[in-house]
Amino acid sequence: MQTQLADDIKSTRIGEEADAILRSCVHCGFCTATCPTYQATGDELESPRGRIYLIKQMLEGNPVSHRTQRHLDRCLTCRACETTCPSGVKYGRLVEIGRAYVDKKVGRTLPDIVIRKALRTLLPYPRRLAPLLKVAQLLKPLLPKSLKQKVPAVQSVPASAATHHSRKMVALAGCVQSAIKPGTHRAALKIFDRLGITLTTPPAAGCCGAVSYHLTQHEEGANFMRHNIDAWWPLIDPASASPHEAILITASGCGTMVKEYGAILKDDPAYADKAALVSALAKDPCEVVANEDLSRLKLNPPAQKIAFQSPCSLQHAQQLNGRVEATLKQLGFKLTPVPDGHLCCGSAGTYSVLQPEMAQSLLNNKLAALMSGAPDIIATANIGCQLQLECKSTRPVKHWLELVAEAMV
Ligand code: SF4
Ligand code: SF4
Repeated sequence: MQTQLADDIKSTRIGEEADAILRSCVHCGFCTATCPTYQATGDELESPRGRIYLIKQMLEGNPVSHRTQRHLDRCLTCRACETTCPSGVKYGRLVEIGRAYVDKKVGRTLPDIVIRKALRTLLPYPRRLAPLLKVAQLLKPLLPKSLKQKVPAVQSVPASAATHHSRKMVALAGCVQSAIKPGTHRAALKIFDRLGITLTTPPAAGCCGAVSYHLTQHEEGANFMRHNIDAWWPLIDPASASPHEAILITASGCGTMVKEYGAILKDDPAYADKAALVSALAKDPCEVVANEDLSRLKLNPPAQKIAFQSPCSLQHAQQLNGRVEATLKQLGFKLTPVPDGHLCCGSAGTYSVLQPEMAQSLLNNKLAALMSGAPDIIATANIGCQLQLECKSTRPVKHWLELVAEAMV
């Protein structure tokens, strides 16, 4: 695609990056076939190709409006279009640039500012989120049905005993996940202990930065990233006596963000090299477990049938499609088929809060697809998807690591 970016952006680093992405798009439209928002609306401006065109127009200095902003906001950043695109267009990166640009040009309405600020003030901080959820639990019986289903069941789990293996990996407990579903981290500790790997969880590490970053607060997001790098560095520093061999991130949405630290901080002289190493070490559990001796887990898998919901962050952003399913089958779990597995469940980070109508419609479709094989349990690999599915699911929704840990004898 030919481009002629406006003077205020064309020679900036962001402008050059956006220009290269725009030029890689040949406008073929293959991506529209797998875009959930295009499928739902039939509107070209709700498709990847349409949004790319909007971003091009905007960066070329054409008028921008709240309408442009709405079309970009309605994108789930699920990146199904990236999986489909034959030209390797980095749409996810382009839409981040486009969103930040349109926000600067047209601003946000007051209600939008308030809700976005509330999300950024609350979600990354488990110590703020946990007490609020306790209050919501107490008030749950009094809430209308539509709100009731949004209050998640908060797990309470006993502390895990420390393990001491020669093999060590760093683990990220996460922010929302550690406040609502600490059982996932506990399951990871149990499984990796059985595999002969100690997981070290530095308490200073926290939110991966995705909440702020995806709400166009890029510098705030980058500060979360720097904070985590500082917390992890003593454990992974190649100059240390025995550096940890990987950084394990059990929520695939957070894993996607950590794998991007290197690209995001590449122009920060103090952090570029460290961020690149962090991203190189970042692993989803499915990347590690599949390479270990699975017989060490000593499993007695349940007879129940499992429908696995593959998060977009796992299959499209990290390109790990089918890996969890293959491991679960290898471990003896019974999986049901899930049609249209490439489509988003509507969670998409803060999307389910900011775009509730589209999110609910996608959730209904996803649950119908998951239930078509009559499963007893739904499994996933990301906290956001787990909470979204739990809102309406008639079956328990668990992280797949919890299923494996529960089946260990
Ligand atoms: S993003 Fe890829 S698939 Fe979509 S129109 Fe551009 S080149 Fe074609
Ligand atoms: S990221 Fe998802 S919702 Fe956004 S344009 Fe691509 S396929 Fe459509």
